[in-house]
Amino acid sequence: MNIAANLKHTREIIEESANANNRTSEDIILVAVTKTASTEEMQELIDLGVTHVGESKVQEITRKYEILGDQVKWHMIGHLQKNKVKYIVDKVEYIHSLDSYELALEIEKRAGRINRRVKCLMEVNISGEESKYGLAPSAVKSMLEKFAEFQHVTIVGLMTMAPYVEDPEETRQYFRGLKLLADEVRDMNLKNISMDYLSMGMSNDFQVAIEEGANMVRVGSKLFT
Ligand SMILES: *Cc1c(COP(=O)(O)O)cnc(C)c1O
Repeated sequence: MNIAANLKHTREIIEESANANNRTSEDIILVAVTKTASTEEMQELIDLGVTHVGESKVQEITRKYEILGDQVKWHMIGHLQKNKVKYIVDKVEYIHSLDSYELALEIEKRAGRINRRVKCLMEVNISGEESKYGLAPSAVKSMLEKFAEFQHVTIVGLMTMAPYVEDPEETRQYFRGLKLLADEVRDMNLKNISMDYLSMGMSNDFQVAIEEGANMVRVGSKLFT
């Protein structure tokens, strides 16, 4: 495993696909998904200039945060149970997996107690696969209308996971769908809601995702193989 070479290659692809979309790599946040990585490997990434890391388990965030602290911005990208919010609300900058009003209420309550504001992305099950978490696309707008009064939960965008397919071209339609939905939400001008971030694209398909408008990509295995 050569983390530096993997990171360099990832950044090159990000730059190319951003250019294809009239942007530059500066417009794209690389969230290094470190769920398979040790804290030593994470430190190596940090020393190479990575500033955002994503983890999918609460326990991993608490364990690794203890060692690495605030050198990086932490993203919770995996399914989040309400009863575990309290363990990470003081550590994470972003939660990508907001998928219910009840979860939002819990984040609001816990973040309120420490006077913190947590940036959240609504997870959307854009492909409709039964195995996936996330709101149905048709439920997103009415859900977001309920967020106006939150003080500690700020919605900053949408997140999705495309189905895993051999040919990443097949994921394009899903990324395009999420972008369209974000554009529609933006046009609603809802209070406390911005559509600054589209979190889509993983190792297999982040190139296509960026071409379709992603500005947060969650790349794991490509960095650690
Ligand atoms: C693991 C994971 C990723 C990264 O996937 P890779 O294929 O390893 O790049 C991205 N997003 C979520 C939600 C994940 O759980």
